[in-house]
Amino acid sequence: MKCPYCGHPDTRVIDSRPAEDNNSIRRRRSCDECGKRFTTYEKVETIPLIVIKKDNNREQFDRAKIELGVLRACYKRPVSAEQIKKTVDEIELDVINREDKEIPSSKVGEIVMEKLRELDPVAYVRFASVYREFKDVNTFMEELKKFLK
Ligand SMILES: [Zn+2]
Repeated sequence: MKCPYCGHPDTRVIDSRPAEDNNSIRRRRSCDECGKRFTTYEKVETIPLIVIKKDNNREQFDRAKIELGVLRACYKRPVSAEQIKKTVDEIELDVINREDKEIPSSKVGEIVMEKLRELDPVAYVRFASVYREFKDVNTFMEELKKFLK
């Protein structure tokens, strides 16, 4: 995206979030040349985010699925609905912020784990155990130890 101030071709995206109408993405950009900042709006329809699944099938990124996974991981944990919503928002933004139109499901899983790690240790380990399909207790304990360090 060209800088509207100096015409420099290289600008960086510093922040992306859904715009109020929810049909576009608002991006804050910063020019590497003059340092000025500006905002662009991009239509969501032109950038559908596709998740590449393990079997190589593609499906559209679905926030509801992420929410369900986080809810399950936080079952009976001292995590408020507000915290869950905030975590899902952060995960969604993180995924949207990537400029790639396709993201492997493994990458999405890692992002979820990263956020859960900050949220609640038990929720994190629960999600990780399902996600990484721990074959036995030892793998599970190793993961737990890594986390406790
Ligand atoms: Zn500039």
